[in-house]
Amino acid sequence: MAKPAKYIFVSGGVLSGLGKGITAASIGNLLKARGLKVNIQKCDPYLNVDAGLLNPREHGECFVTHDGAETDLDLGHYERFLDEELNSDSSLMSGRVLLKVIQDERNGLYDGEDVQIIPHLTGEIQKFIMHASKGFDVHIVEIGGTVGDYEQLSFIEAIRELGLKVGRENCAYVHVVYLPYLGASNETKTKPAQNSVRELRGLGIAPDVLVARSEKKANAGVKAKLSLFCGVEEKAVALLPNAASIYEVPLTLEDTGIADVLCERLQLKAKKPDLKEWRGVVKRALATNKRKITVGVVAKYMDNSDTYMSVFEALKSAAMWEDIDLKIKWIDAEKIHSVKDLEKATSGVAGIVVPGGFGTRGLEGKIKAASYALENKLPYLGLCLGLQMAVVAAARNSGIKNATSEELNPKSKELVISTMAGQKGKERTGGTMRLGDYPCQIAKGSLAASVYGETKITERHRHRYECSNSYRKHYEAWGITASGTSPDGHLVEIIEGVDHPFFLASQFHPEFRSRPNRPHPMFKGFIAACKAEK
Ligand code: GLN
Repeated sequence: MAKPAKYIFVSGGVLSGLGKGITAASIGNLLKARGLKVNIQKCDPYLNVDAGLLNPREHGECFVTHDGAETDLDLGHYERFLDEELNSDSSLMSGRVLLKVIQDERNGLYDGEDVQIIPHLTGEIQKFIMHASKGFDVHIVEIGGTVGDYEQLSFIEAIRELGLKVGRENCAYVHVVYLPYLGASNETKTKPAQNSVRELRGLGIAPDVLVARSEKKANAGVKAKLSLFCGVEEKAVALLPNAASIYEVPLTLEDTGIADVLCERLQLKAKKPDLKEWRGVVKRALATNKRKITVGVVAKYMDNSDTYMSVFEALKSAAMWEDIDLKIKWIDAEKIHSVKDLEKATSGVAGIVVPGGFGTRGLEGKIKAASYALENKLPYLGLCLGLQMAVVAAARNSGIKNATSEELNPKSKELVISTMAGQKGKERTGGTMRLGDYPCQIAKGSLAASVYGETKITERHRHRYECSNSYRKHYEAWGITASGTSPDGHLVEIIEGVDHPFFLASQFHPEFRSRPNRPHPMFKGFIAACKAEK
């Protein structure tokens, strides 16, 4: 039988938004670089079952795994930093565990027992965690939220109990805290971190490793102070000031030595870390002698860029590999009403991206943007909704004035985009879209074939609407082609502009498969086209 995994539990204190996900992902990166087989999982205190119905404005992007789980955006960081495909086991929201407990109770599986938070809910959480760890050397579990939150208590209790079950030599607790800086006295303060560790200890967990985040480099002496007051060995305290690029975090953490501390603590058989490839990524990210290019992203949520996290990361990675210093200009789709608005919005912009989205708000602006890019030969990258709006734009450009999508106007007679079979009436329900990996056949000689360098691909999906097949015969006349379809030819997966330098859009979300060390070909092609246009 395979050896059970060693566990690393990552919690956070003082405040939220500390970069706990990046820290957990970076630890994973460093352990993988030591030749270990690493898995990683996020436990989220929300009572939702998954992230599918969460408002992206507040919660950020919904990341989709290859097996179609709708998850927290931290899974995107995990995949990018680990360069591994995760699955639905890696995302656990409270609602999913609660649902299981309640269903088991209804099915009589508790045999007349009182069903309780401890041990039943906490036990069920542990089962989910242990299941996800199977077959790995190390399993990292990030607990969302901040220690002390009422909502998080059952997860904290579950990992405390799990520690007892598997034995102290088989698990390590990492606590991520924040060190505020007081300008007046030029001091990095440790008191909130101390209090947070005290809170965690009060819940029965003494951290083995402390990662202390700060805006600036902490004052000398802070490490010794944290060690003394938090009861963590000095060599197990990592100071982590803000990085110029998030990709730098694994290297900064490596320099602190905590990956070795964790390996020692967990008696892991680790090789010397091979960080050559990652150092190359960081070198590219930090290179300063790059050409500047601005790309416009026509979006709806202007106040939370986390909403488009993977798109942004994929653009950044592609730019890095094309030696481009990329500036993103957020273009508010709701403020685009005319060609004049677009001329203004795209001035100085080398190409535009229309990312995914749901609902009617901003759709007309996105259609106009796609139409403008098609007509003015401006490089265009459409992602899911960005494909649908491009098809509407092409139809309208060639005279079908009422062409639209069923999402925008279900009563229209010219639905070039319509609800997929089996999706009607499910618009507000969770887990019902076409989700995850589906294969796509690319037409030989197409732009898509040239960017991919192959014609059989598999990509991740998350959509409810599709190109209406009855209009496909008109595409050529509209100036577009369906250059990628499902293998049976039934579903349009990719469209592109005819006689256009780069007009490419997909029904899937290529951004989820892009990596800092391996930018996705569609993004790389787009950035290269923007570079050529300039
Ligand atoms: N709202 C569109 C659909 O459901 C596009 C979805 C998306 O962009 N992810 O088909």
